[in-house]
Amino acid sequence: MAEGTRVASFELDHRAVRAPYVRAAGRYQGPRGDVVTKFDLRLVQPNVQEIPTAPLHTIEHLLAGYLRDELSGATLVDASPMGCRTGFYLTVLGEPEEESVLEAAKAALARVRDHEGEIPGCDPLRCGNWRDHSLPGARAWAAEVLERGFIVQATVTLP
Ligand SMILES: [Zn+2]
Repeated sequence: MAEGTRVASFELDHRAVRAPYVRAAGRYQGPRGDVVTKFDLRLVQPNVQEIPTAPLHTIEHLLAGYLRDELSGATLVDASPMGCRTGFYLTVLGEPEEESVLEAAKAALARVRDHEGEIPGCDPLRCGNWRDHSLPGARAWAAEVLERGFIVQATVTLP
């Protein structure tokens, strides 16, 4: 992992990035040597676009399974939507390369784009806002993001 990836997210210059991208955003080592790595999975350009809550929520439910499937050699602990609605924070047990996270994200989003049938966990027992979902929206946003093409984004710190 490149030098300079351990900075806090508020040190990132959000004007200097080009979405969609994967960025290594932090690495933490526990006392027994286990490593947790954080990544940004930015889907749309900050301060230009944002994904509406219903499609973003559905992408979250679908990524929980698909990204876990696609990420090999490391364990996805969590994929949580960013409050700004431009992407997801990924928490991973292990130290996968950015390129392998990028490939896993592309494969997972292709499965979101092509998903048919029920949305996993979309009911009042398993979701905190189960009415706020849109599968057509999730599919359309996944398709749009994939068409633009993912890159590995280096951390550009604030000037
Ligand atoms: Zn939910």
